[in-house]
Amino acid sequence: MPVFALVDCNSFYCSCEELINPKLKGRPGVVLSNNDGMAVAINRLAKELGIGLDAFHLNRSKWDSMGVWYRSSNYPLYAEMSGRVMSTLKTFSPLVELYSVDEAFLDITGVQDYEAYGRLIKQTIEQWCGIPVSVGIARTKTLAKLANHLAKKSKKNRSGVISLVDSPYMEAALKRVPVQSVWGVGYRWGERLRHNGILTAHDLAMANRNWLLKKFNVVLTRTALELGGTFCLPLNLHPPTSKSIMHSMSFGRLLTELKELRQVLSTYAAASAEKMRREELACTWVYVFLETNRFRDEPQYNPWIKLQLPHATDFTPEITEYALHGLEDIYKDDYRYNKGGVLVHGLIPAGERQTNMFDPWDREKVARINQALDGVNSIFGPGTMRLGSQGFRNSNWRTRANHLSSITAPGKGSEFQHNPRMVELGQSVPLYRSL
Ligand SMILES: [Mg+2]
Repeated sequence: MPVFALVDCNSFYCSCEELINPKLKGRPGVVLSNNDGMAVAINRLAKELGIGLDAFHLNRSKWDSMGVWYRSSNYPLYAEMSGRVMSTLKTFSPLVELYSVDEAFLDITGVQDYEAYGRLIKQTIEQWCGIPVSVGIARTKTLAKLANHLAKKSKKNRSGVISLVDSPYMEAALKRVPVQSVWGVGYRWGERLRHNGILTAHDLAMANRNWLLKKFNVVLTRTALELGGTFCLPLNLHPPTSKSIMHSMSFGRLLTELKELRQVLSTYAAASAEKMRREELACTWVYVFLETNRFRDEPQYNPWIKLQLPHATDFTPEITEYALHGLEDIYKDDYRYNKGGVLVHGLIPAGERQTNMFDPWDREKVARINQALDGVNSIFGPGTMRLGSQGFRNSNWRTRANHLSSITAPGKGSEFQHNPRMVELGQSVPLYRSL
């Protein structure tokens, strides 16, 4: 029987902000969504004050009076920290499933003392990456999730590590977790189960399998089996490749000029191409759209266009050229646009592209240009080397982020946003790669 550890970063976005600005530690805090609209992450202290995923502009003065810190979301920072946590985890097991940006399952079968190993994982991540984590260990992934949930909540066990492997407390643990908190159950099924008298994880583990299969489906039946200790869900070591990649966002203000929209869509096209190259994919379709603000009482226009490419490609200039052709086709100058985006679709593995004798590009040269572009941008930050059509970094159509964290001198602004490597200069962050 295998043994899995689920390692989950505690309030990940908030922990990253506290890491680069230690003054925030020990205070309630909130990370905001794009355009500083809503809270998307809240730390433990803020949760204890009853703060939820609330609108920023309605709560700002209340939060100020409560001493709550708030930051615009800084995704390059979170991606960098996530990468460090995940590469540190890979030193503990060769079998790691990257489940989300701040969570991973590890196969740790055969370790002598599971709980001690969990404590070592936790301690190492905190020491090397500066991010607090909780660890749940059990014989199935669903139980490891449950153990992790308890490790976060438990007032008695403050170590942040719980192992349910051959544990005498298994039944008590299952009885403590409400059924809707079980991994894979969710709110809707939770309500239906509660309606049928299944209130806790223990009730679900004991439920009649045939009844579950008839009333619900095989997915929930599997969850019940896993809760009962039957191993059903193996690690997913090869996450499925994307079917399509989209970059779209509300603009920092309403846009009417074609020139500005060209900059926006060039930037999104470049970001889509870059992501495709990271996943070693190429696209055969480019889809471009614009939206006006439907909440405003003004003329509405939500056009889109889909363009088929003659050759599958992952080359930024080529994708941008098509996206801009599409934009010119759908653009009308008498509207104020609130949102726009580029979606690349029909993705195939880049290595399986058909060559075409009428292809106007020299593909070997293109591959070298791609390599140079991605190399420079990975060292000096996204957008360092970019097409002229993308405009300047500080263009004011960009999404609002007025409360962005900065590790540079006050007043210097948000250099970190553009240069994730800046954090390597921060003294509080030991660098795993250099160890
Ligand atoms: Mg988390």
